[in-house]
Amino acid sequence: SEGISQPDAPVVREGRAKGDLFAKFDDLIAMREGLLASGVEDPFNLVMEKVLSPTRAICNGRETILLGTYNYMGMTFDPDVIEAGKQALEEFGSGTTGSRVLNGTYQGHKECEDALKEFYGMDHAMVFSTGYQANLGIISTMAGKGDYVVLDIDSHASIYDGCAMGRAEIVPFRHNDIEALEKRLKRIPAEAGKLVVLEGVYSMLGDVAPLKEMVRVSKEAGAMVLVDEAHSMGFIGEHGRGVAEAQGVLNDVDFVIGTFSKSVGTVGGFCVSNHPDFEIMRLVCRPYVFTASLPPSVVATAATSIRKLMHGSNKRAHLWENSRTLHKGLKDLGFQLGTDEPQSAIIAVIMPDLTRGAQMWEALLKEGLYVNLARPPATPANMTLLRCSLCAEHSEDEVTTILGMFERAGKATGII
Ligand code: PMP
Repeated sequence: SEGISQPDAPVVREGRAKGDLFAKFDDLIAMREGLLASGVEDPFNLVMEKVLSPTRAICNGRETILLGTYNYMGMTFDPDVIEAGKQALEEFGSGTTGSRVLNGTYQGHKECEDALKEFYGMDHAMVFSTGYQANLGIISTMAGKGDYVVLDIDSHASIYDGCAMGRAEIVPFRHNDIEALEKRLKRIPAEAGKLVVLEGVYSMLGDVAPLKEMVRVSKEAGAMVLVDEAHSMGFIGEHGRGVAEAQGVLNDVDFVIGTFSKSVGTVGGFCVSNHPDFEIMRLVCRPYVFTASLPPSVVATAATSIRKLMHGSNKRAHLWENSRTLHKGLKDLGFQLGTDEPQSAIIAVIMPDLTRGAQMWEALLKEGLYVNLARPPATPANMTLLRCSLCAEHSEDEVTTILGMFERAGKATGII
């Protein structure tokens, strides 16, 4: 059980005014206050005072190695990416002030969609303002009332929110369980509309989906398939197209969802597809239509970064090297990890409880290392995790330094 005081009965905060709608968060407020009262720094409120590079920042006045960003390919400080952003800012201004459907489609949005089509070798690409909105939009538009969305139980919040918005029937199956997926599909009426939603890499444990079998089973059942490649784009697969590419099933996937907020190094989301009717989406997808489009500088940085990622095989190889070294090093030190083998750029270190997880997180920060502290409901099976995400710009020496920090912090907090 978690070490901080977690009352059995719901706490009602003293002095709550009648009708105060914040009362529903009293348990969470008490949990957070309990954590902070133990004297640890707030792990959910870290400020980066200055960012020096994709792998270094000043946090609390101290130079810190970043091992908890999604900057997998280290594109945020790429000189060509920065130059493209500056130029677009000067030539097109700071924002579009409008929806893609009206006044918000600039040359840069088209170029960004062209870069995506080329990157994936697909016919259609649609850029959204975030990856969250891409899932929200595509899932809610494709699967409506009376349709079924069959999804891995550990799916990202944006996938669940897309299902809720579309009001489709949600059919979850056990994480990465091919048989469970097959069974669920068989129980759905044959004539009903079916969308199977999978992720390439699951971001909490850093494990990869068995897409090859799952896509086959889904297609046999007559379902359409959407794969969220947020954590694999740019890195996994020969051309960095993701897990579907690595497992040879990209052509059988109906929709690939992705984000610019990870390997691409900026912000935005997208969907690519080969479906001949895909373009109608631009008129019917509410999270695309009823929001402002990305600023010109953002789409310019994204397009430049995506084009550079096409030629990123050396960086991909180095990132795999980093992942293997860190995974082996942590395992040899005696830490319990989320996967037996490194499967992605994410390595999750399992903590015994939230209190000790927060202590370890703080000890690492004092060593000069930033990782992510993750807790339920974001994590599966009630786990507290220290999530490490590597970057292609971490040097071999940095990974060695990181392992030394983990050893000292782990011993100081009694985790190893
Ligand atoms: N899908 C997955 C699997 C994610 O992990 C995330 C973000 N963490 C998103 C979608 C949303 O991406 P964005 O940050 O672009 O909204």
